[in-house]
Amino acid sequence: MTTQNIQAEQFDMTRPLPVVQPWSEAFWAGAREGKLLMQHCKACSAVIFYPRKFCPECWSADIEWRQASGKATVYTFSTAYDMVEPRFWADIPYTIAYVDLAEGPRLMTRIVECAPEAIKIGMAVEVVFHKLDDQFSLPFFRPVAK
Ligand SMILES: [Zn+2]
Repeated sequence: MTTQNIQAEQFDMTRPLPVVQPWSEAFWAGAREGKLLMQHCKACSAVIFYPRKFCPECWSADIEWRQASGKATVYTFSTAYDMVEPRFWADIPYTIAYVDLAEGPRLMTRIVECAPEAIKIGMAVEVVFHKLDDQFSLPFFRPVAK
């Protein structure tokens, strides 16, 4: 038995799931269908992420959902090789990143389908959804095929 197995018995290994709010339901419904949805403010044209009840730029509640292109570039990233929350041990090594969507918003995600040492700031990535269960699919990003 490895040290990690002994330690795992001492921790809750249940994966945390997103908390859905009424104003974020559409985002998660879209993700289930493989669509990355962003809120657009009809009053000032701001593209909004994370989901909110009001536009953070002008406080309008006149907001609609539109599908984003899924294209983005890596703004920054960090790869975890060790010393992470026990519930994520099974995933290491994994890379957390901020990516800038073509539509403007910057979002925190994971970079997948790429060796950590090959990830570069500014690299072109595209969304790919990872299904957690019947309710949740998470938008991760992978390098754009050349
Ligand atoms: Zn606005």
